[in-house]
Amino acid sequence: MLPRRARAPVTGPSPRFVLDPSLTELAYRCYPDGCPRGRTCCVGLVVEVSRREVRAIDTLMDELARLVPVLREGRGFANVFVDDAPDLVIESREDGACPFLFRTRDHALCSIHHVALRTGRRVAAFKPAACRHWPLVLEPERTRVRVTVEPAARRMGCVAAVAELPGWPTVLDAFRSEIAELCGEDVVGR
Ligand code: SF4
Ligand code: SF4
Repeated sequence: MLPRRARAPVTGPSPRFVLDPSLTELAYRCYPDGCPRGRTCCVGLVVEVSRREVRAIDTLMDELARLVPVLREGRGFANVFVDDAPDLVIESREDGACPFLFRTRDHALCSIHHVALRTGRRVAAFKPAACRHWPLVLEPERTRVRVTVEPAARRMGCVAAVAELPGWPTVLDAFRSEIAELCGEDVVGR
């Protein structure tokens, strides 16, 4: 089964979050302009999206299809979202890539992120939370929720031991605002 980029699970009104040691043991090596063409987290992953996120992406489709022409179908747009109760997932292309991925000569980029940035829109209002939070994962335990790093991210090279990546931020430092968004300010403030 393909690894999933899941949205934060519903865990009750006020779950207790714990930060896994991997958040400070691993450094995050993401390229600011996207991955080199041959390596990207946007291939081989199932991405969960909410209905609200689908509606937001739909408003960008015309601009997205100018970057990724296969998103256009006749006078409309390809339907790339499939039901996966309770929400939806983005249907991958045959090569396993997300349909919103596009490649320049050197990089692989998210067209949603790119269009939002280029037009001065807020990326977080359009890019699925599951992608913005990658490679964080929330693992429900019996009485609490562990904030940790998706194991596939280490295989892909997004993260590595701090000693192997001098000068790169730890996952905790790189994702403080996302962890605060998911778990509350008090969790990252500790
Ligand atoms: S998160 Fe990892 S695979 Fe994705 S763009 Fe960054 S470095 Fe590349
Ligand atoms: S929506 Fe963007 S960031 Fe998410 S998998 Fe697709 S191309 Fe990658």
